[in-house]
Amino acid sequence: MHSFQQYINGSFEDATDHFDSIDPATGAVWAKMPDASVKDVNRAVEAAESAFFSSEWASMTATARGKLLMRLAEFIAEAAPRLAELETRDTGKIIRETSAQIAYVAEYFRYYAGLADKIEGAHLPIDKPDMEVWLRREPIGVVAAIVPWNSQLFLSAVKIGPALAAGCTVVLKASEEGPAPMLEFARIFDQAGFPKGVLNIITGGPDVGATLTSHPSVAHVAFTGGPETARHIVRNSAENLASTSLELGGKSPFIVFDDADLESAVNAQVSGVFAATGQSCVSGSRLVVQASIKDEFIARLKEKAEAIVIGAPNDMKTEVGPLCTKRQRDTAVRLINRSVEQGAILLTGGHAIDGDGYYFPPTILDCDGAPDADSLSNEFFGPVLSVVSFKTEAEAIAIANTTQFGLASGLFTQNLTRAHRMIRAIRAGIVWVNTYRVVSPIAPFGGHGLSGHGREGGIEAALDYTKIKSVWLRTSDDPIPDPFVMR
Ligand code: NAD
Repeated sequence: MHSFQQYINGSFEDATDHFDSIDPATGAVWAKMPDASVKDVNRAVEAAESAFFSSEWASMTATARGKLLMRLAEFIAEAAPRLAELETRDTGKIIRETSAQIAYVAEYFRYYAGLADKIEGAHLPIDKPDMEVWLRREPIGVVAAIVPWNSQLFLSAVKIGPALAAGCTVVLKASEEGPAPMLEFARIFDQAGFPKGVLNIITGGPDVGATLTSHPSVAHVAFTGGPETARHIVRNSAENLASTSLELGGKSPFIVFDDADLESAVNAQVSGVFAATGQSCVSGSRLVVQASIKDEFIARLKEKAEAIVIGAPNDMKTEVGPLCTKRQRDTAVRLINRSVEQGAILLTGGHAIDGDGYYFPPTILDCDGAPDADSLSNEFFGPVLSVVSFKTEAEAIAIANTTQFGLASGLFTQNLTRAHRMIRAIRAGIVWVNTYRVVSPIAPFGGHGLSGHGREGGIEAALDYTKIKSVWLRTSDDPIPDPFVMR
């Protein structure tokens, strides 16, 4: 049995309690994870707070912080295969995806390493002749970072990178599902040479998250997860009046017009919804397709979906692996059954695969006769696509925007003027045109509505971890007159 330790104030330690981690490919327990106590959470926040005010960190130049982040990036790039293996083992995410994604995680740290000494203040052309006024951008303080189980290293990098670049310190709570890669990441971080307490990594469930996010010393909560948890977090943050950035779920439309390059659109739709076994916040899980090409598009899609290789997540040939938890699989089954009762037609998949592990096949539901089907409004977090057709551009926009979420969207058309009209009309934080699911450290990422607020990636993310200080400096040597002597 493997056993992992938590990382507080630069030390690796056992927690008093542990919980079992289950291998989603077999359903068997494979490791013991440290379950942080309230005391552990408090110690982690105290460590982050004293690191924040320590001269070692607070007086370190931004350039020096950048160099440490660059060293961390190099260590991550070296350790990527080991981290990928662990993430695959603990979450069931397939190895070909974890390998590529974690290698790219290093690029996020490189980007924020370079950005550290480019987070600038400003000088104001103030309307007073004898004053100099400028703005300092200062780190916001101790950050509580909370991540879900899918893509934990990636979702942590987009928080830790900009937060440390800005000069903050962090307590990260890894998800109780699949925390192994984060606890191993702590060991890599430890070697990079940051002062102790700058980053602390603990794990545990909702109670640990609630204690952390309501701690009075936390200045900002960076959260990725579901909208219901986000509501708890916003309520908790009322305790410390911390600011929040919330990266939540989605029900993203993938819109295909009849002039699209169909082969590209089909391939993008397959990866857009079935990659990561559908456990992706930007999953293009609503296909909004022009009626004139619906039958052909679905026939091609179905053929590809049925040819997808389902198998063990650690096999490089596998294209769809198990879902992370039994709960995820049960939710998919329940939502599909309910949608079929509401009139949706099951075109392929739809039933859990018998045997060990939490396997579920690529599934397509035709929802043209079921506009109120649950599958069109609820996020599945599984490999499930719901299809609706449209006749006109106006209908496509209306369907695309019929959602409380607003994270991502995809648009396939060769018509340039229509593309521009659609880009303006779609209510989402990301519009991918003739492509899907591309990300970069340079581009901000985030949504509206139930998909949350704040941005990760890009310069915007680093600015989220700063606060502005206005400085007024009087330049005149004349004595300040007594205010109570009338002139
Ligand atoms: P979740 O909301 O159940 O849990 C996320 C994290 O919050 C976990 O670490 C959990 O322990 C913690 N948590 C739970 N209750 C808490 C509380 N009361 N206070 C503080 N923390 C608490 O989400 P999940 O099921 O692990 O992940 C799936 C969700 O994450 C989906 O909705 C998905 O769309 C979303 N997600 C969003 C993005 C994005 O970037 N927008 C990326 C990946 C996943």
